[in-house]
Amino acid sequence: MITRRALLKSALIGSGSASLFPRTLLAAAASPTHLMQAFIQGLPKAELHLHIEGTLEPDMKFRMAKRNGLRLPYRSVEEMRASYQRIHDLQSFLEVYYEGTAVLKTEQDFYELTLAYLKKAASQNILYVEMFFDPQQHMRNGIAFETVIKGLTRGQKDGQKLWGIDSQLIMCFLRELTADSAMQTLEAALPYKEYLVGVGLDSDEKDNPPNKFSAVFKRAREEGLRVTVHCDLNQKDIHEHIRQAVEQLQVDRIDHGGNVIDSPELIKLVKDNGLYLTVCPGSSGTSIQDGKPVDVVRTMLNAGLNVTLNSDDPAYMSGNYLNETFINAQKRSQLSAVELVSLARNAFEASWISDHQKARYLTKLDTYANQWLPKMA
Ligand SMILES: [Zn+2]
Repeated sequence: MITRRALLKSALIGSGSASLFPRTLLAAAASPTHLMQAFIQGLPKAELHLHIEGTLEPDMKFRMAKRNGLRLPYRSVEEMRASYQRIHDLQSFLEVYYEGTAVLKTEQDFYELTLAYLKKAASQNILYVEMFFDPQQHMRNGIAFETVIKGLTRGQKDGQKLWGIDSQLIMCFLRELTADSAMQTLEAALPYKEYLVGVGLDSDEKDNPPNKFSAVFKRAREEGLRVTVHCDLNQKDIHEHIRQAVEQLQVDRIDHGGNVIDSPELIKLVKDNGLYLTVCPGSSGTSIQDGKPVDVVRTMLNAGLNVTLNSDDPAYMSGNYLNETFINAQKRSQLSAVELVSLARNAFEASWISDHQKARYLTKLDTYANQWLPKMA
């Protein structure tokens, strides 16, 4: 019989790198809360909604700005961090987000950004990541597509080598730019298609419906790329945007999609198409129905939707990476250990990987669940 202490130990050293998990945590994990946190820490996970530019931590942003001869409007890292408290909606978030992307200039910058995130992810027992990146933003900052892709892929390669973490890239189009610009970006990316698993659509959703990009997404699908679209929470015309994403763009997944729960027709549409949703509870966890807040994750689970938990832009969201996201969601949405395993399973099921790779991850998850769940009941 496996003891609670042995379970905790297996979780804390689960990635095979004991140095990532201080032994002092073992002693601390005695209460039900700490037990749940240790369970989440060790849970084998996949992350499917993560903007690599959104992992640019303030200290790295400061360091890169200095290295690249740029001046930021802050005197210190702390002052910059404090300014993030002013983020209150998608537009105010995008302002600081794009300020951050401006410091990324060289291949080495993109490499270091990617490697730092993958190190963090591996330390949280994330086995697999699909990372978004925004090439149009970098290209309008004067950076060549090749520079971006070379830095990112070198980081991915070294992350795999150093910590065994697998990853793939999803290229996002900025929806406030024209469809022509998106098509040109897709054309520029095609010589590097082997490095991309899919395309997505992000940034300012207001008055930028999925339909605007029908031709671009059709072309991407013809090129063998998977497709996904942000349907941000509580946006203007959001229900129509969700419908267009599914029916016109024929998405393979929906990013966020919290407002699906507002409508039985949309719930049916998403289910009938077998779609998974990459919900980020830190940024899209509460829908508003009849003026009242509704918990998205709990409502989706109860409706039988295929929901996954993700961190989105952790450096701009109080440093909440995937572990913290799971821990916060567990409390907020009253998630049982069985439900947490289901959420982790959904992410592997929704991953754009081979059946063989999927089976390998799911075996790890099942082994972990079989060890832990009897003790978590
Ligand atoms: Zn996002």
